[in-house]
Amino acid sequence: GSLPAAERVRTLVDEAWDRYRHLDEGRLADYIPALARAQPAWFGICVAGVHGALYAAGDADREFSIQSVSKPFVYALVCQALGGDELRARVGVNATGLPFNSVMAIELNEARTMNPMVNGGAIATTSLAPGDTPDEKWEFIHEGLSRFAGRRLSVDPEVYDSERATNQRNQGIARLLQGYGRMYCDPVEATDLYTRQCALNVTVRDLAVMGATLADGGVNPVTRERVIDSDRCQRVLAVLATAGLYERSGDWLFDTGLPGKSGVSGGIVTVAPGKGSIATFSPLLDAAGNSVRGCHATGFLSEQLGLNLFASA
Ligand code: GLN
Repeated sequence: GSLPAAERVRTLVDEAWDRYRHLDEGRLADYIPALARAQPAWFGICVAGVHGALYAAGDADREFSIQSVSKPFVYALVCQALGGDELRARVGVNATGLPFNSVMAIELNEARTMNPMVNGGAIATTSLAPGDTPDEKWEFIHEGLSRFAGRRLSVDPEVYDSERATNQRNQGIARLLQGYGRMYCDPVEATDLYTRQCALNVTVRDLAVMGATLADGGVNPVTRERVIDSDRCQRVLAVLATAGLYERSGDWLFDTGLPGKSGVSGGIVTVAPGKGSIATFSPLLDAAGNSVRGCHATGFLSEQLGLNLFASA
């Protein structure tokens, strides 16, 4: 399978943008002060095919901090380095059904494992990045996410400083995990690395290329570079399908039939295995922290492009 013909995809991407651009439900994230400065009108969509075609509409070149959309890509890189089974044993792969920053999520089972898409599991995953020093670990993460995007990404210093000054809750989560033997480097260091990874700037074009890399078994469709192996890639997508949109992951899968990942700055990346990806950006969020226009536009495109994984034909 592949995406429909280019002209059809182009028309549908424009239609999706036009259909939802005036939808004004949702609110800007404000618990990270710098994110409250986003414009509610911002809305971009980009679809990428596994052969490198890109179809964009709206604010496709506007940069925003990647936030939680970094989680599957860092997970993929650490999976590549450590192997899927080892990472499963250390971080877990089961949905929590709870908000992204839940502390309860850590208490759900005796092993104190979660999944890498909620903050606890994501900070634990980041703490497993190879490297003897914070700088080496950061280089691994920064270089790896840049390979997914096919260009050198850079940190938004304002977002980084803003979240660093207000991330006491994540610091607490990392400390709690340390108490359970589920933090794999210094918790202060791990939280700082995680905060920095969340502050990397991307555009929806970048997210679409990153998603299409996961759709193509780990090969970046634009640079043709292999970023991770295909067996790792399958594991990442499985985790995304169960836990990519936090406590709304079931609703999401019901509507789109595809693995996806959201972040609080308003980005969502969605992967259609073997075909391509859909990336959306709009900062108005629902109560779970997922972009409202992004959820609608992705559901529409998944259906119109025939991407639902559960469809029989
Ligand atoms: N950096 C944010 C946090 O940890 C990311 C959360 C998100 O995008 N859902 O709170």
